[in-house]
Amino acid sequence: MKSLISLKRNLKEIIFGTLYLLCLPFNKGIQAIILYHSVNDKTKFLKQMFYLKRNFRFVLLKNLQKEIMKAKIKENLLCLTFDDIEKSIYTNALPILEDLGLKATFFIATNWLGKNINRPFRGRETINAKDVREIAFLGHEIGAHTMNHQKLTEIPLAETRKEIFQSKSYLENLIGSSVVSFAYPYGAFNKTISNLVKGAGFYYGVTIKESLLRDKEINWFELPRIGIDKTVGVIQFRGKVSPALELYEALRGRR
Ligand SMILES: [Zn+2]
Repeated sequence: MKSLISLKRNLKEIIFGTLYLLCLPFNKGIQAIILYHSVNDKTKFLKQMFYLKRNFRFVLLKNLQKEIMKAKIKENLLCLTFDDIEKSIYTNALPILEDLGLKATFFIATNWLGKNINRPFRGRETINAKDVREIAFLGHEIGAHTMNHQKLTEIPLAETRKEIFQSKSYLENLIGSSVVSFAYPYGAFNKTISNLVKGAGFYYGVTIKESLLRDKEINWFELPRIGIDKTVGVIQFRGKVSPALELYEALRGRR
């Protein structure tokens, strides 16, 4: 079983490697949002951030519309986002971001804070309210990820509304500034839900659909994000933040 998984990983590296090389001439003017849920390998994360820093201009999601307008032709823009905020993000990723001078957006499910300070979630600890304030103080963006992290498509609309509005006001009270970015838990949303998010005063809604941003057709409440987890190898990483991603998805019949 283990060898099957590693075979699959190697195969992905080879496919992405080939597609990445094919796409190299078009590797300009890319806009992308990437997503992490945890960071356990600090060396690997550092290398990934080095690569991104060399090849992209980092912008905060809350400034994305303005930054896209300002971007030079062929300039690569990147938003870095973290969901749920396991302690590993705080202990492993945050110091690296600080060292490299990179800013990111952290999406918080508010009821996972405080109550979960010393309680493992999915086997791992989450950060607390004080950590959120510290992250915001360092100049990173805090985004809302509901209160209870439920699939919004599967709960009554009144509850969905509460999850969206209350997570926003909770975080705004906590950090003392406005919260304009929202991440749908599990990427689950529909038109009614994205309209609620808009109505609550958010400017952006992010999903987990994997693609680059396409300038002319950007829907600010259905923004795609490229997921990076521990299985992603060096070449696949580079490929995923390039047009190779779209070729790969097309090859898999997902485009
Ligand atoms: Zn989440």
